[in-house]
Amino acid sequence: MSAPDLSTSLAAHMPSLRGRLTGGVRLADLTWFRVGGPAEVLFNPADAADLAYFLARLPPQIPVFVLGLGSNLLVRDAGVPGVVIRLGRGFASIASSGEHRLRVGAAVPDVKLARAAADAAISGLAFYRGIPGSIGGALRMNAGAHGRETRDVVIEARAVDRQGRMHVLALADLQLSYRHCGVPADWIFTEAQFQGSAGNADEILKQMSEVADYREANQPIKQRTGGSTFKNPPQASAWKLIDQAGCRGLRIGDAKVSEMHCNFLINDGAATAEDIERLGETVRARVKAVSGIALQWEIIRLGCGRPGQPIGEALVEAGTP
Ligand SMILES: Cc1cc2nc3c(=O)[nH]c(=O)nc-3n(C[C@H](O)[C@H](O)[C@H](O)COP(=O)(O)OP(=O)(O)OC[C@H]3O[C@@H](n4cnc5c(N)ncnc54)[C@H](O)[C@@H]3O)c2cc1C
Repeated sequence: MSAPDLSTSLAAHMPSLRGRLTGGVRLADLTWFRVGGPAEVLFNPADAADLAYFLARLPPQIPVFVLGLGSNLLVRDAGVPGVVIRLGRGFASIASSGEHRLRVGAAVPDVKLARAAADAAISGLAFYRGIPGSIGGALRMNAGAHGRETRDVVIEARAVDRQGRMHVLALADLQLSYRHCGVPADWIFTEAQFQGSAGNADEILKQMSEVADYREANQPIKQRTGGSTFKNPPQASAWKLIDQAGCRGLRIGDAKVSEMHCNFLINDGAATAEDIERLGETVRARVKAVSGIALQWEIIRLGCGRPGQPIGEALVEAGTP
């Protein structure tokens, strides 16, 4: 008799679980790049209490990763061992929580926060119109654009830790800096409060449409991409360094450096995660050779490569193209 799969054995140990556990879910369908292997188990918690119950009972050796809208994520081809958590309907509310203040679930897309703020004539959140992630991802990445970032507008967040304990975090506790959050990597945000100021709904809608037009004109937003691949180094632009290193349009298989914005990698057909990661490492190596600057990945890379395939910097060190 074969051993039960992980989702079945977890369900057997969690009789009061209300969320859904599913084995072997294809993560390519849940990320912008549309590449990568399956999650061993995908868990969709019913709400924050259900998430806390699950984490408290999950054996500590089982790895956990929380997925947002997959807009900053490269899932490797052999998939992700352990549990991938995806927040859904139980984390999708938006409500007023004070003057020019909104309480928002971590699964809410950033663009919906921007729209809700416009509807309530709350100014300061229009920049979220252009960021295709969720509130959970915005907190983790300190997402920002057009001169503003999450740390300018968030005032409080709630999270569940790996042991299932709930925490309320003030802005200072989040330790947000450029594309970084200091909260332990395995804590899962469940909601946050955002503070704006008094605004005019028509003006906010105009700003949002300017943001959308800018994106359309300057970024390959209709393609399968992960947004900015590398962080901007201090006092430099990653895209300029990539351009100077001659990488615009560079291709490995169906993975390509966008011609439109060369800090974006795109899946231009049937690229694998390995093609994309290899291309990213090749860009890093060429930029290092030309400028001396070592670019740091902004995109989160997750899971395992195909057996026997070196990934990441090992590829470049091995002298692959
Ligand atoms: C076309 C395009 C344009 C983009 N433009 C911008 C931009 O202008 N500015 C910008 O900052 N980013 C931009 N991005 C990148 C991306 O949208 C942001 O980083 C976004 O915040 C990621 O959110 P997500 O929900 O998609 O997270 P995912 O990509 O799913 O995950 C990213 C990280 O967030 C973590 N995470 C997700 N949810 C939670 C949670 N509930 N609790 C704890 N951690 C969580 C994940 O574990 C992972 O570490 C762009 C991406 C694309 C594809």
